[in-house]
Amino acid sequence: MTIAIQFLGAVETVTGSQYLVTAGERRILVDCGFFQGSPNEVARNRMPFAFEARTVDALLLTHAHLDHCGRIPSLVRAGFTGPIHATPGTLDLTEIVLRDAAKLQDEAEARWRRHHPEAADTSDEETAVERDDPGMPARLRQADPEAATMSRAALYHATDVDATVRLFRPVQYEQTLQVAPGITAQFHDAGHILGSAIIELTVTDGGVATTIVFSGDLGRCDTPILRDPTPISHADFVLVESTYGNREHGPMAQAVEDLAAAVSEVAGGRGVLLVPSFAIGRTQEVVWELDRLLRDGRIPKLPLFLDSPMASRASDVYLRHPEDYDEETAALLRSGSSPLEYPGEQFTNDAQQSKAIRTQPRPFMVVASSGMLTGGRILHHLKDFLPDPASMLLFIGYQGQGSLGYAIQHGAKEARIDGQIYPVRCKVRSISGFSAHADEHELEDWVRNFARAGGAAAADGRPKTVFVVHGDPEAASAFADRIRGDMGLEVQLPSYLQEVILRP
Ligand SMILES: [Zn+2]
Repeated sequence: MTIAIQFLGAVETVTGSQYLVTAGERRILVDCGFFQGSPNEVARNRMPFAFEARTVDALLLTHAHLDHCGRIPSLVRAGFTGPIHATPGTLDLTEIVLRDAAKLQDEAEARWRRHHPEAADTSDEETAVERDDPGMPARLRQADPEAATMSRAALYHATDVDATVRLFRPVQYEQTLQVAPGITAQFHDAGHILGSAIIELTVTDGGVATTIVFSGDLGRCDTPILRDPTPISHADFVLVESTYGNREHGPMAQAVEDLAAAVSEVAGGRGVLLVPSFAIGRTQEVVWELDRLLRDGRIPKLPLFLDSPMASRASDVYLRHPEDYDEETAALLRSGSSPLEYPGEQFTNDAQQSKAIRTQPRPFMVVASSGMLTGGRILHHLKDFLPDPASMLLFIGYQGQGSLGYAIQHGAKEARIDGQIYPVRCKVRSISGFSAHADEHELEDWVRNFARAGGAAAADGRPKTVFVVHGDPEAASAFADRIRGDMGLEVQLPSYLQEVILRP
């Protein structure tokens, strides 16, 4: 039996994750994400799939970010009727992300039909793409937010998402899943966002097993809420992401220190701390850190307003899945505290409540989207607080060039919002240590687990080939060189649409 893998996305780029494994007559798809960024890449979302959708036996999904799950409703429209396997946390988050994506596409299409394509995006929602990620190529970070998910006609609608959700089949971490005759899969915690997984796929033919490990997106070690990425030491073939293949992160401890300092400073001046944030992952992490700082007595207690409907829905999903927490967060829960909630935090349900925040007694904190000030409720808070010297705008994510966030971060003295000019008199700070991705050292450590197994004790653990994927070309090739040079492993940098026969 011939086993092959075709690279249908997230090669030479960080978006559009999609890998097709063929084993004899069987076809398994791993991830089915949106391409985001430049028009050339976004155009790939409109191209037909490289295979007959109805011939795919099953889809395995690593996690809920749009660049890994965004095209699934298109796959279902194209005739896919098989099961979609992912962890319960991933499936819950994916439903939120896909419903939001369908809504944004409908809105964009309606705007386009009204012949006002230049109209401002007033949507409150985030698209769950890691646009703030410095590991992304500049052309992706700089893309117009609309270009990130859509161009003109909607790719799918809410009814397609309904049909997609009906195919969801939850699988627990470490459970052995029978995917198809002779094919099993195991999901291991990737520590990236809630429910994220490394997928280990095993094809057995004539008593010979071939194992392919898909890293998915790997998280950082020692971040709040989630466990560290699971070390895996045996595989015949490995696909490893390389988003940060040539960069290292600042220490988490410094990021937390800087967050505490910002809160204290605003409290002392009776101002407002305004934190633009991304709905899934980042918001929950910041709330967790604020709660811990408060418990440790390192910050004064300020009221916290969470002003993003999508962040609220994502936070609900985080609360429903304590089985995914790391030991530290689980212990806090057992001791009776609620680490994912800041005491007295207030959610806003509609735009009226959001606008009423300005009248609250100071000092207080607001976390609102979008993360790069490209739209959403953050905009009307900016109108109120940018001109206020007692207040502070605190960036905790990357600001893409061309965004309002980038301009203010780089010293703009005034900001144009909805056609009006507002002076920037508030304090502006940035913290760079919060990231959901492993950096070059953490990626290398994860791959080293396979190399170590190549010793005399377990000579068969060493992969025959490591495919470096999900990276900007410079990051991917720098990381490939390190794996080859430092660990002596066989490495390939696949190209878009390339098919590789996997020899057992
Ligand atoms: Zn991701």
